[in-house]
Amino acid sequence: MTKCVVLADPRGFCAGVDRAILTVQTILKAAQKSGKLVREDGLPPVYVRRQIVHNKHVVEDLASQGAVFVQELSEIPDAAAQAGIPVVFSAHGVSPSVKDEAKRRGMHVVDATCPLVGKVHREVLRFVREGYEIIYIGHKGHDEAVGVVGESPEHVHLIEHADDVATLDFTPETKLVLLSQTTLSVDETAGTIAALKARFPWIEEPPSSDICYATSNRQAAVKLVAQQSDCVVIVGSANSSNSVRLMEVAQEGLGDRGTAYRVDDANELEPAWFDGVESVGVSSGASVPDELVSGVIAALQDRGFTGMKSVETIKENMHFVLPAELRRQPSRA
Ligand code: SF4
Repeated sequence: MTKCVVLADPRGFCAGVDRAILTVQTILKAAQKSGKLVREDGLPPVYVRRQIVHNKHVVEDLASQGAVFVQELSEIPDAAAQAGIPVVFSAHGVSPSVKDEAKRRGMHVVDATCPLVGKVHREVLRFVREGYEIIYIGHKGHDEAVGVVGESPEHVHLIEHADDVATLDFTPETKLVLLSQTTLSVDETAGTIAALKARFPWIEEPPSSDICYATSNRQAAVKLVAQQSDCVVIVGSANSSNSVRLMEVAQEGLGDRGTAYRVDDANELEPAWFDGVESVGVSSGASVPDELVSGVIAALQDRGFTGMKSVETIKENMHFVLPAELRRQPSRA
């Protein structure tokens, strides 16, 4: 029997990641056209706060083209604000305190927050205005969760798992609503929601799930892939929430039959993973360029996995326009 690769579709880039990367590329391209890619004052053409998307290859590529990545706005000199150098906020969003700091320092902000993350920020503001306490399911310390909780730290209560529900204490007089990070595991979150409803039967949910279309679609596809594979390789960085969730979903689908691995690229594949394996499932997180998946497939082909099967669950056609700050620019890519 031919050993084969079972490829998940959809996989890889989502509309929010696509837009965030294009945002930085558009600024770089405009700087190049106007001859300001290498400036006399030594300032870069663009700063990006945090990783624009959680993928080290994407970040390294944009950095090699001139973008400078910082963790905090304090690392950006005042001269950059005075010179009008753009500062891009990443796809994961920021808390209001970051926006306030940028405004106070007169920075030229281009906000590449994914519109679906922006939707959760707006939900927080609306529900707080209406007198709700918000239970937010997310990962402590993740950029997206930090930004959302920062909208109203006193009214947003972050929990990670069903076990955390026991730590919450609200009386039935408290208006309660649950929101969540966009990149959670659909199945695990359903368990946490069930635990919340059991403890607080009056808790309300937003009109539509906060887990985004890209996260749910990639998880549904990898679930089917895992059922047809002996092991699964997920391409994605360790700090990419949706990539790590994909690996967990794949592992659940495999059960005791095999193991799901996560790699940044083909260099991290271990030969021992494929001993006795006939079919390898492959997928990638929403922040992963498809050439990294092609590299993994090529490496697997070199190891004898020459057959190829695609498991397609849905066709995606989501697209987000560039941030308003860039739409007026004629140099748009
Ligand atoms: S994974 Fe979802 S929320 Fe995150 S950037 Fe992509 S579309 Fe937006």
